[in-house]
Amino acid sequence: MILTELKQKQAFSRYYDEAPEAQIARIQQLKADMGPDLLLVAHHYQKDEVVQFADARGDSLKLAQIAAENHTAKQIVFCGVHFMAETADILTRDEQRVYLPDPMAGCSMADMANAYQLTDAWQALTARLGDDIIPVTYVNSTAAIKAFVGQHGGVVVTSGNARQIVTWALRQAKHLLFLPDQHLGRNTALALGVPASAIGLWHAQEARLDSAPGADLRVILWDGYCSVHQQFTVAQIAGLRAKYPAIKVIVHSECQHAVVAEADAAGSTRDLIDYIHQAPAGTRIAVGTDNNLVGRLMRENPDKKVMYLNPMSCACILMNRIDLPHLAWTMDQLAAGRQANQITVAPDTAKWAKKALDRMLELSRA
Ligand code: SF4
Repeated sequence: MILTELKQKQAFSRYYDEAPEAQIARIQQLKADMGPDLLLVAHHYQKDEVVQFADARGDSLKLAQIAAENHTAKQIVFCGVHFMAETADILTRDEQRVYLPDPMAGCSMADMANAYQLTDAWQALTARLGDDIIPVTYVNSTAAIKAFVGQHGGVVVTSGNARQIVTWALRQAKHLLFLPDQHLGRNTALALGVPASAIGLWHAQEARLDSAPGADLRVILWDGYCSVHQQFTVAQIAGLRAKYPAIKVIVHSECQHAVVAEADAAGSTRDLIDYIHQAPAGTRIAVGTDNNLVGRLMRENPDKKVMYLNPMSCACILMNRIDLPHLAWTMDQLAAGRQANQITVAPDTAKWAKKALDRMLELSRA
């Protein structure tokens, strides 16, 4: 076993010795050879060296919709992170196969909630609050979490449809459990008029609920967060406003509420891109999100002064695991009819997770 793994590593290491130009030319050729049998999609946070091959790029919502609507591609190479590839596998047909060029491309936020913790939380919360609770999970969660949510009448949400879906969910039950991203949950609930005193925080590691004394709880947040968006601060915004008084600051809604409150606008990746496209030429805009995307927005919008809110912030290291060598390796494997890193979700998990995803897609269309 160890010998096999060592051989695989040695075989893969040659991809880092090969000239990028050769890999680019080969990927282009293999893509052309495979034609419509292959669909290559990339999340906006992917590096340019990967995005250049994408048939479609998008945020989580758009990529989920593309996966659900494509019935022709036999092989889908998903340049993103693990939960996204799982979602694509759940939403595509059985005969379609989904590949993640590096299986180590996970998501630290998704890993902050597992099904055991959620089962414990559910027992504790229903014992305390009664069973009039609806679970809502951010798409950045494992298939097992989505399955639990689907099985308990809940729904998946993305940052692009959070207001719409949370509005719906708040009408379905007295209490809403939002996981795993506390910031998206808090920002959305506050924007919809839920008072701060009606929002509690579930500490998953300690299995403990924090809430104001005597609070009439409406929303319970899981204590997860994104390590990339957690790096933006109010002080960074204040520093830029002092230097450039006319600056506009836009941030992702995975940022802390204090940061969102100080920004000129907050929203999904799609919202941030649209804001820049629609801004008048010459506008200076600082963007608080993954720096791979901000760098691309700077290059693609030379008529605006787009800049990093925090130039020292790292791009997502997990998204960054997908690179040209991993993509070239995946394409070579597929072309040779060998196993690449196929992502599959067990049928029972997929069945319930799909319920929660379908509910979201239906509500997003409404
Ligand atoms: S940017 Fe944050 S939420 Fe997105 S994949 Fe990376 S860790 Fe996960």
